[in-house]
Amino acid sequence: MQPRSAKKIIADAEQLCIQRGVRLTAQRAEVLRLMIEHPHAISAYDLLDKLRISEPQAKPPTVYRALDFLLEQAFIHRVESNNSYVVCPHFDHPSHSSMLLICDQCASVTERPAEGIENGIKEQASVSGFTLRHSIIEAHGLCQACATILQCDDQEHCHHDHKNITEPKRKPGRA
Ligand SMILES: [Zn+2]
Ligand SMILES: [Zn+2]
Ligand SMILES: [Zn+2]
Repeated sequence: MQPRSAKKIIADAEQLCIQRGVRLTAQRAEVLRLMIEHPHAISAYDLLDKLRISEPQAKPPTVYRALDFLLEQAFIHRVESNNSYVVCPHFDHPSHSSMLLICDQCASVTERPAEGIENGIKEQASVSGFTLRHSIIEAHGLCQACATILQCDDQEHCHHDHKNITEPKRKPGRA
């Protein structure tokens, strides 16, 4: 995945909105920009806090309406299992199926293609006579960076930021 600048992502979104005959208002664009600048998945309330810096009168419905719009246009994904939102790295392909790999430590979300998995879900749905409308595949665990820090045994000499990492259990004999 090529890292794209916030400007470029918003310009792409604007272009798609024009093609679709919908309006990316200044407020919707601002919510998208705040999400792009946030490195991880973000909750609606954290988003509201950030939005209030530029729009002090913003209320929860302001954010939810903007999020609904961005979801409808498939510019963002909702992370169902922790009730947060993340920008889709390839929203120019609207009908892609993807799985979200969610880090339980830092809340980073990595999006991976899910074609193979999707077929399995479709198959199982059809066996049950179930009409599938949409499915979200979410997997929880540790991202590579967090896993490395958690496995680190040399906190005195390493260059990791161990502050925000909660160790599941301490090794016996260590302070
Ligand atoms: Zn996506
Ligand atoms: Zn992580
Ligand atoms: Zn370390």
